[in-house]
Amino acid sequence: MDLQGRVAIVTGSSRGIGKCIAQNLAQVGAKLVAVSRNAEDTADLVQQIKDQGGDAISIQADVSVAADVDKMVQGTVETFGQIDILVNNAGITRDSLLARMKEDDWDAVMNINLKGAFLCSAAVAKVMAKKRYGRIINISSVVGQMGNIGQANYCASKCGLVGLTRSNARELARRNITVNAVAPGFIETDMTATLPEKVCNDMMAQIPQGRFGSPQDIADAVIFLASEQAGYITGHELSVNGGMYM
Ligand code: NAP
Repeated sequence: MDLQGRVAIVTGSSRGIGKCIAQNLAQVGAKLVAVSRNAEDTADLVQQIKDQGGDAISIQADVSVAADVDKMVQGTVETFGQIDILVNNAGITRDSLLARMKEDDWDAVMNINLKGAFLCSAAVAKVMAKKRYGRIINISSVVGQMGNIGQANYCASKCGLVGLTRSNARELARRNITVNAVAPGFIETDMTATLPEKVCNDMMAQIPQGRFGSPQDIADAVIFLASEQAGYITGHELSVNGGMYM
């Protein structure tokens, strides 16, 4: 894959899957915009990319805040002049059983995981449409496909993201913008590090390949969907889950 000359925004690139996606996009030549709620958290990543001969900047943005998203798009265009790739990766969990789920937990998850992707897609699509080129990749989840006890808010947000993916794919197709989702299975990051051993064991029992995924597994799929070679794929949700759901 060669993304020389392309400009990519990755939301939530301070750690985990987003950081790995950002590193991989930069490795294949993309100019990288690393977005997180605290710009200091992506400073090392940006420096690492520059040390390796790449080009990158940090932008502070909370994806659930429209003014921050506008600033993110403006800052990217001011620095790099265009936006070719958007990875809507920022996400949180606020798990609890339905009967105990607080309204705040529902709202926080929907605002970041779903509204955040809507705000970023809408703002970035305007820039992409002018150039008649774009790749938008939304990070959904295997539990959005299966459902999961204690994750009504998270599963609903990720399932909603797939509806957003399909609608935006149809709407933006004539502008030569593809919109796809990557649905990770159980990936070893900070998000899953705090899960109780029993939950992890139960998950492992459902994975035919017998291993948890790595951020690199997800980055490989994202790089493909961001590439020229994936130009005729749109509205698709690509499962990367070791066979956990098929
Ligand atoms: P993680 O390690 O917790 O990282 C989440 C990232 O999102 C961080 O960089 C965080 O940055 C950022 N973020 C959170 N809220 C944000 C906001 N309002 N605005 C901007 N950035 C925000 O999680 P991960 O495991 O890498 O997950 C990445 C994505 O993959 C998420 O969408 C997650 O739902 C999805 N996913 C993960 C798994 C898994 O097993 N790990 C499975 C399926 C799907 P700050 O907190 O520093 O701002």
